[in-house]
Amino acid sequence: MVQNRKVPLRRCVGCGEMKEKRDLIRILKEDENRITLDPTGRKNGRGAYLCRKHALRWQ
Ligand SMILES: [Zn+2]
Repeated sequence: MVQNRKVPLRRCVGCGEMKEKRDLIRILKEDENRITLDPTGRKNGRGAYLCRKHALRWQ
């Protein structure tokens, strides 16, 4: 029996904290200096996750 339903956690690459996936935005690192936000989570590529507050800055 599982008592606590665990939500999927992802590590934010901005602050290194584990957060719920819904609190994060997926980003794609296309190369060293180019990072694209992927709000839909559909694009192919190396994904990483970032807090929404960081994502606003990076945009
Ligand atoms: Zn963060």
